[in-house]
Amino acid sequence: MSETIKTDVLIIGAGPVGLFAVFELGLLDIKAHLVDILDKIGGQCAELYPEKPIYDIPGIPLITGHGLTEALLEQTKPFKPIFHLGEMVLKVEKLGDAQFRVTTDGDKVFECKCVVVAAGGGSFQPKRPPIQGIEPYEEKSVFYAVRKMEAFRGKKLLIVGGGDSALDWTLNLQPIAERLTLVHRRDDFRGAPDSVNKMRTLVAAGGMDLKIGQVTALEGVDGQLTAASVKGNDGSVSRVEVDAMLPFFGLTMKLGPVADWGLKLVDNLIPVDTGTFETEVPGLFAIGDINTYPGKLKLILSGFHESALMAQKAYHYVYPEKKLVFQYTTSSTSLQKKLGVA
Ligand SMILES: Cc1cc2nc3c(=O)[nH]c(=O)nc-3n(C[C@H](O)[C@H](O)[C@H](O)COP(=O)(O)OP(=O)(O)OC[C@H]3O[C@@H](n4cnc5c(N)ncnc54)[C@H](O)[C@@H]3O)c2cc1C
Repeated sequence: MSETIKTDVLIIGAGPVGLFAVFELGLLDIKAHLVDILDKIGGQCAELYPEKPIYDIPGIPLITGHGLTEALLEQTKPFKPIFHLGEMVLKVEKLGDAQFRVTTDGDKVFECKCVVVAAGGGSFQPKRPPIQGIEPYEEKSVFYAVRKMEAFRGKKLLIVGGGDSALDWTLNLQPIAERLTLVHRRDDFRGAPDSVNKMRTLVAAGGMDLKIGQVTALEGVDGQLTAASVKGNDGSVSRVEVDAMLPFFGLTMKLGPVADWGLKLVDNLIPVDTGTFETEVPGLFAIGDINTYPGKLKLILSGFHESALMAQKAYHYVYPEKKLVFQYTTSSTSLQKKLGVA
């Protein structure tokens, strides 16, 4: 087990709300580390709709999910948050007054004065395609993510799906695969038009195969695929030799370990006090999509408001001997110094 990391606050989730919490805590001299299961920052904005425009961020008429993530990251910079990406928080334990221990699946251990759960809808999970008997092949020769492209060099690959992930990986893996087949149920793709054109050019040049239909059966031994049956929309069935299959059917969200932290949950959400966004456990806060209270709206702007109030209460745990003075960023030289602008 690695050395214990000590910090004022540990934020679980680096979505838009976790990111803004860094800013609000930072203004009050509270240091934060963030842990996220994803290998990137931005939560749903980055994972589910990076290119889509958002129209209801106050003062910003239009910004994409990616753009908002970048802007929030820039805003947190003066406070030097430390990110631990690709790690899932498994355990949250209260050790005593203003003292928590948080453990990740990467064996990292944090000790902190407050914990802020900004876990959104929980962890993103790939959707499993409706193919009977797929389970024994999963993580052996059926993969829902590409961690190392090299693992697929010289292999016969079957990619299934019609969105950006399926198309991007088709274009990236085609040059190193022995043969690549893309299967999609319609001859109409949701992915970026440029990627669709590139894929069609490769098909026309004989560099890969495109089949319109659905994978209906898998063949293999001990989790190692050897072939797949593809049923075309005209009812004909073809057999494709396969070493590895990559289905990209999108992501769903599953609460995950949040359910095991001993917190009272209502419909898989954490009830909070709306004056502080603290849970029933003193020092443990829940902000953003993961919390619930009368009138809650799952909007980014709600999470921003919740972050500001959470930070005010967290201050009392981090600096119990100090009095908190309310200040505006426009007029406080002390806040401007923290932001590096005065
Ligand atoms: C298609 C779509 C369009 C939307 N459009 C809008 C819009 O126009 N305006 C608007 O205001 N809102 C919109 N939303 C909603 C908005 O994205 C959410 O309200 C917002 O992302 C919530 O932010 P969050 O930080 O609370 O959670 P999330 O963005 O869900 O981030 C939570 C993070 O926590 C991580 N996590 C979860 N469990 C753990 C764990 N155990 N350990 C470590 N990390 C963990 C997750 O990996 C995730 O990255 C939209 C949502 C979708 C899906």
